[in-house]
Amino acid sequence: MPDDFLNLGAGSPFGLFGRGRPAHKTVLVAGGAGFVGSHLIDRLLANGHRVICLDNLSTGRLANIAAHAANERFTLIRQDVCDPIQIAGAVDEIFNLACPASPPKYQKDPVHTFRTSVIGAMNLLELARAKGARIFQASTSEVYGDPEVSLQSENYRGNVNTFGPRACYDEGKRAAETLFHDYHHQHGVEIRIARIFNTYGPRMCPDDGRVVSNFVVQALSGRDMTIHGDGSQTRSFCYVDDLVEGILRLMASAVSEPVNLGNPGEFTMAELAAIVREKTGTTARLVHRPLPTDDPRQRRPDISRARKALGWAPLVALSEGLDRTIAHFAAELGRPLPSRTEKVA
Ligand code: NAD
Ligand code: UDP
Repeated sequence: MPDDFLNLGAGSPFGLFGRGRPAHKTVLVAGGAGFVGSHLIDRLLANGHRVICLDNLSTGRLANIAAHAANERFTLIRQDVCDPIQIAGAVDEIFNLACPASPPKYQKDPVHTFRTSVIGAMNLLELARAKGARIFQASTSEVYGDPEVSLQSENYRGNVNTFGPRACYDEGKRAAETLFHDYHHQHGVEIRIARIFNTYGPRMCPDDGRVVSNFVVQALSGRDMTIHGDGSQTRSFCYVDDLVEGILRLMASAVSEPVNLGNPGEFTMAELAAIVREKTGTTARLVHRPLPTDDPRQRRPDISRARKALGWAPLVALSEGLDRTIAHFAAELGRPLPSRTEKVA
């Protein structure tokens, strides 16, 4: 458990233990103002670390990290990860989450998305090399493209299109994995790579464009709920707290191979829309929109490696995670909490 691991240093906040890594570290989180990054920063600060958040705020929001503004262990550097990165002093760990993750957002400026994935990764790998820091890469299930097999394991090499609207993201993330592999083998940089499957929860932007936030915001606002295609394509949805736990365990592990992190529960988009409708009691219409080019037909993670190597598995079922997410969006949008949504702490 990462928390137990870190607690070994209690009483000596910046003392050394184990393999000589400080108990309380200086951690750089690139993309820390985003949805996943801000939840990760909450955990890192709660565990006593110093956190430097580097973000260009393109899809992230200051509101996501506002709670830490007065924390002297927290620093925000507003910059693009593609620009040269200079950090004074020690950096023990780097988490690279800097990249838009929503298809409409990453397709708006595909050249910059590719630059972010590749040049950004290289800049952070150079920083890791210079500082002797361990570095984590937020890779993605998109490296499997439109998979031809159900249950995608890390050994599956994918069915990917280099020449479509999703390629800037998919191929950028694939190239970044290659860079991580090569910095590890050529320069001895300690790497950790998570292939993250669809993750949802509080702090997604209402206009993010991904399916969970779209359906919830549309349902709460009474706006048409937009199902792409016939809604038979599947995704597996992981609640953000489960993902962050997996990321922390992976970073604290000795695993330098890619590891799938996701929830194997698989749902069609029609099923997801029905669950959100039931929970919100919405009267919004269901409408169908054309299926975007290269939209994957299915996605479901094989998490055997994460179970075995990290002792990790998701704990939050879709129903409970949606309750929490609906409560978050209802508060953000100033709507009453739907009576059919379970009240959650
Ligand atoms: P997000 O869009 O909410 O967060 C991305 C953050 O990176 C934002 O704060 C944004 O401002 C920042 N950013 C983007 N480009 C940048 C740049 N060039 N320089 C500096 N900062 C930049 O997305 P998220 O869902 O929090 O995803 C975080 C990471 O996890 C991404 O790398 C994404 O590819 C990966 N991932 C997420 C999911 C998911 O379902 N949430 C799935 C697979 C992979
Ligand atoms: N989708 C949908 N309605 C929306 C947004 C997305 O039906 O309003 C579909 C999308 O086409 C895809 C699935 O939901 O089939 C998941 O989309 P998302 O953008 O969340 O993630 P990704 O496609 O990257 O897995």
